[in-house]
Amino acid sequence: MLILVLNCGSSSAKFAVIDTQTEEGLASGIVENIGSNGFFKAKGHTQNKSKSIEAPTHSEAIFEIQQFLIQEQLIDRIEAVGHRVVHGGKYIQSKLISLDVIQYIESITQFAPLHQPAHVIGLQEAQKYFNKLPQVAVFDTAFHQTMPPKAYLYGLPYEIFEKHQIRRYGFHGTSHRYVSLEAARLLGKEKKDLNLLTAHLGNGSSATAILQGDCVDTTMGFTPLEGVLMGTRSGSLDPAILFYLNKTLGYDFDRLDTLLNKESGLLGLSGLSNDMRSITEAAQEGHERAQIALEVFCYKLARELGGIAMALPSIDALIFTGGIGENSVIVRQKVLQNLSLLGFKVDDFKNQEHGKNSNGIITQEQSTVAMVVPTNEELLIAIDTKNLVEKIS
Ligand code: AMP
Repeated sequence: MLILVLNCGSSSAKFAVIDTQTEEGLASGIVENIGSNGFFKAKGHTQNKSKSIEAPTHSEAIFEIQQFLIQEQLIDRIEAVGHRVVHGGKYIQSKLISLDVIQYIESITQFAPLHQPAHVIGLQEAQKYFNKLPQVAVFDTAFHQTMPPKAYLYGLPYEIFEKHQIRRYGFHGTSHRYVSLEAARLLGKEKKDLNLLTAHLGNGSSATAILQGDCVDTTMGFTPLEGVLMGTRSGSLDPAILFYLNKTLGYDFDRLDTLLNKESGLLGLSGLSNDMRSITEAAQEGHERAQIALEVFCYKLARELGGIAMALPSIDALIFTGGIGENSVIVRQKVLQNLSLLGFKVDDFKNQEHGKNSNGIITQEQSTVAMVVPTNEELLIAIDTKNLVEKIS
């Protein structure tokens, strides 16, 4: 079955056409800088495109994607559309799209104000252009809905949770779910026979504890700001710092929001870059604050992993994924060193090779297993979409 996967981000719209039988991508692309200098890049089997476009909103971006699919003669072959949606609120699994589902996604906009409005436009536009096709929403939060109250509740008055649904939701769920299934396949085990830690490390980073296939704790919370230190996000910190900055420096909420989401993390600590590759290179050349940023990132990640590991009775494997997790030899090495209490002993050679010749495994024989598993959220969205569509037909 050919599935069109749409991923509308805050200022971008990505797409991929995936054949679920061969698991191959037939076309993919992105409209970037929606709302400013729109730019369209796409790859198909007959052409590669890259051009500036007028895209004041996601509507024009979806139109451009649809035109590309017509030119590539894929439009009539697509059988269903799968949408990535960041926040699923109460939904515990992927949902077939209906008017009610779109309304619910819109009603929880305040939980993910940058992403949810973009998703709603993507969903509405896709209904227009692909109105004969079944469509499915796959939520980043859904995988985490199996967390028990002890993991998802904050230490706030209970009414704040009851009346305002302020709780931990978790994000990157599709990636954590994909790599956990892929790790089970690589280890030759059923997911019910495995207890895993997964670390999705990219521009945004989070980690998850998975007990026999179900998420039991994760590091991101009510928003994707909690937990691990990230490219420009602070990760967890003492909330009293905000009161202090407000009282002593007069920082208002908008200023604090920018500080924590856009000016902190690797960028804030290094004063150099939010990009791990640049940080690593600078650190190796002796840049002191890049070295500090790298050390803090790896230590805080290990500390977060150690924390959520307490949700598991044992650890069968720790999975690294995302741009940093899949590519950074030094980050994996430092994180595993910081986690030696949990029995991790890195194998330098296998780590250097990103586990490519050892079924993903980058640790020594007698170590707790750590692996590198490349993520593929689009493929899982396509598979979920196919499975749901087959159920109703
Ligand atoms: P993602 O958000 O998953 O695309 O990941 C982006 C992050 O991965 C950026 O911080 C990149 O610098 C980082 N990254 C990609 N390749 C490498 C590499 N070879 N070494 C270190 N970091 C990398």
